[in-house]
Amino acid sequence: MVVQRTLSIIKPDATRRDLTGQINQRFEDAGLRIIAQKRIRLSREQAEAFYDVHKTRPFFNDLCTFMISGPIVVQVLEGENAVTENRDIMGATDPQDAREGTIRRDFAESIEANSVHGSDSEKTAELEVAFFFSKIELLQ
Ligand code: ATP
Ligand code: MG
Repeated sequence: MVVQRTLSIIKPDATRRDLTGQINQRFEDAGLRIIAQKRIRLSREQAEAFYDVHKTRPFFNDLCTFMISGPIVVQVLEGENAVTENRDIMGATDPQDAREGTIRRDFAESIEANSVHGSDSEKTAELEVAFFFSKIELLQ
């Protein structure tokens, strides 16, 4: 067991429905502590930069349009095996495939508007945390 940090995003479909509190409760119930958090609205340039790994995928433009359609909550979660633990709580990308009791199964509207993002590896987590948070915003 190792204490890790991971980057989480509560996406525009969820902020629009005021699900931030309910989603945060899921993280805390699972032992993931929210050590940094802010509500922001991305520009198209920022969304494109964040999703750069997906730029050749057919859904890239729609995804960026969706991600700038309203405010998002970006947060850093800390806990034992936080990266995989968070992915577990989130559930599969497509809510129809997501396990019962997961955030996406319970809250997602579609494969695109799927309520949350979570880093997919420790390396990605490091890069994604640094994308949104400066050193002074993170507990040492
Ligand atoms: P995330 O990176 O947001 O945590 P993920 O790792 O489960 O999700 P990715 O394959 O990285 O899934 O896709 C990034 C995001 O792009 C998805 O969360 C979803 O919002 C959107 N997306 C993925 N596949 C599709 C698709 N086939 N059609 C529309 N949108 C999609
Ligand atoms: Mg991903």
